[in-house]
Amino acid sequence: MTEEKKVETGKDVRVEELREKASVCTACDLCEKRTNVVFGEGNPNSPLVIIGEGPGETEDKTGRPFVGRAGQLLDECLRECGMLRRHVFITNVVRCRPTNEDGGRLKNRPPTSEEANTCISLWMEPTLTIIAPLVILCLGSPAANAVIKKGFKIMQDRGKFFDSKYANYAIAGLHPAYILRQQGEAFDETRASLIEDIEAARKKVVEAKKEPPKTLF
Ligand code: URA
Repeated sequence: MTEEKKVETGKDVRVEELREKASVCTACDLCEKRTNVVFGEGNPNSPLVIIGEGPGETEDKTGRPFVGRAGQLLDECLRECGMLRRHVFITNVVRCRPTNEDGGRLKNRPPTSEEANTCISLWMEPTLTIIAPLVILCLGSPAANAVIKKGFKIMQDRGKFFDSKYANYAIAGLHPAYILRQQGEAFDETRASLIEDIEAARKKVVEAKKEPPKTLF
């Protein structure tokens, strides 16, 4: 009898299948005002995943994560650590832009815990299960609350490594949108802190690759 060899479908294919399903998601009210579902992008084979809060106006328009001003700052900081988008996978806690209507205009708001929980269990968890990153870098409190622990104190605990059920190591840094709201020295300091946290995540990936696998099978 010939032994059948099981060929595992690649991470890229499985992530694309999930993206396709997410593109028509109507699991929460955020679907009503969205232009595009922002599933995430980058390299699904990367050992490093970066998680933000949720799409803003430019992300909603383009369907791509972190492409507005905060995204440009993130790209700059990644570049200072020798990384490009194709070296990491970038996604968010929620995949549709959370907004409030204000004088006839849509304004960004943080996701509610219900919106976040729905999106985490439907799309973030399955994405991370496929990618199985060694390290996750959370940008801001909502991502750190989802990936590391509830009640995470971003100012106190950024830059430290924690266990996570989604990766061997998780670390949080300041959200680039928060950094953009700072001025003068505060801007320089918070920007430097993000570079420090990205560099710590990059170094942890290098170390973690040398460790024996955490599961036997
Ligand atoms: N802010 C986020 O948290 N995510 C994006 O994709 C863009 C801005």
